[in-house]
Amino acid sequence: MKPLRVAIVGSGPSGFFAAGNLLEQDQIEVQVDVFDRLPTPFGLVRYGVAPDHPAIKSVTKIFDRTAQHENFRYFGNVEVATDITAAELAQWYDAVIYAIGASGGRRLEVDGAWRSGNHPSSDFVGWYNGHPDRVDLDVELGVERAIVIGNGNVALDAARILVTGTEKLAGTDMADHALEALRGSKVREVIVLGRRAAEHAAFTPSEVAELGKLPGVDVIVDPADVPEEDKERDKARPPIQRNNIKQLRRLAAKEPSGADRRIVLKFLRSVVGIGGEAEHGPVASVSIARNELVEAEDGTVEAQPTEEVSEHRAGLVIHAVGYHGTPIPGIPFDTERGVFRNADSRIVGYDGAPLPGHYVVGWIKRGPSGVIPTNRDCARDTVSVLLADAAEGRLPRSEFDGAQVERLIVERAPNLVEYDGWRAIDAHETALAEPTDRPRVKLTSVDAMIDAAQAAAE
Ligand code: NAP
Repeated sequence: MKPLRVAIVGSGPSGFFAAGNLLEQDQIEVQVDVFDRLPTPFGLVRYGVAPDHPAIKSVTKIFDRTAQHENFRYFGNVEVATDITAAELAQWYDAVIYAIGASGGRRLEVDGAWRSGNHPSSDFVGWYNGHPDRVDLDVELGVERAIVIGNGNVALDAARILVTGTEKLAGTDMADHALEALRGSKVREVIVLGRRAAEHAAFTPSEVAELGKLPGVDVIVDPADVPEEDKERDKARPPIQRNNIKQLRRLAAKEPSGADRRIVLKFLRSVVGIGGEAEHGPVASVSIARNELVEAEDGTVEAQPTEEVSEHRAGLVIHAVGYHGTPIPGIPFDTERGVFRNADSRIVGYDGAPLPGHYVVGWIKRGPSGVIPTNRDCARDTVSVLLADAAEGRLPRSEFDGAQVERLIVERAPNLVEYDGWRAIDAHETALAEPTDRPRVKLTSVDAMIDAAQAAAE
């Protein structure tokens, strides 16, 4: 039987875990081609994980091993949608797995959200991590106070990066332009706003505990915002909530040291308007409402703003209110959830019927939640459904072979970067960091990445 040829679109954690699963199983021989629109692989690991969290990035060692498999190929700097269409991929391969993540930020629907100086976390995170699309972001750091909206781990990442100080960040792989800008930062206070109560926070215990350990930073939590200790009630809470509350109680009990920088965690608060000095000018203030909790019909607890609203000066707002996937023409999209329409890992049409040979994995399947290892299980599920379909003869087999497809890809994307090209970029970035203790100095333009990849091939 001919080997099964599978394309994976997206080389972030879910794409690489899916590739690993396909190549490690022994039911059927599989050849895997992984595509990425950027020359560099690893998606969220390179452009999402905070630079001061290097341990999380070590997962790329697993992906590197996958890439060494003889049936693995990487086609970087090839965009599905513009260089190749989804319909063409479907013709060229027996199956396609979409693993494109959720790269856009969810919109913040408040008055004045259009003002410059209010950024989605996707832009801010991409900016400090050197994402080529976000290097030109103008982050206003000449202000004393920043507001971070949201209570997830991304909100905490944003707050921490704003006050950590460049003495520490200078030892990381943070993009040079961000380090430079943060060196001149005047931000002294970051207020993080959770729209619901402390027990509803989406962040996790180790991330909130980490805030309390930042040198030169006070973390302010109002004890009235944290549920009082109650052994029985605490025991009944889900573990993450119980431990979050434990950490928040510790922070609330700590006397501020009078440090130069501070993070203030506030709960039951929503930004209800963003103001400026000039009618069309940048952010200069935010209106913050105190919220009350109401129980929705389905039993979930929602925040509702009250009439109690206060004005606060702030020149920078980052809304970390979740991510949203981006559609690809030809693939049915659920606009509300920001995911490809799917059932049991198969992409389905607007009538609910599976599109033969089309699968989905990671955030573009489940929505933007879970940590990197969550994608390992998600990829296992997708791959087992795909292999079951293959075994049952449900896959439309392609008439193309791997060599033909490679020729077509080179025609469409002459500046294609293969895995050896990525290795050259990696070596180049590591060499740039050599005189220092930084792990790498990131290249942040696609042209510079292509140059590094091609110089090594000459
Ligand atoms: P998230 O965990 O879903 O948090 C989103 C937050 O935004 C929630 O607090 C949510 O509040 C709030 N929110 C949503 N809409 C809002 C609105 N209109 N106004 C105010 N607040 C609003 O998403 P995330 O922080 O983007 O993180 C995505 C995933 O990546 C998560 O699973 C996260 O744990 C993971 N991650 C992990 C790490 C790490 O392990 N260190 C780092 C970064 C990200 P409600 O709860 O009220 O909806």
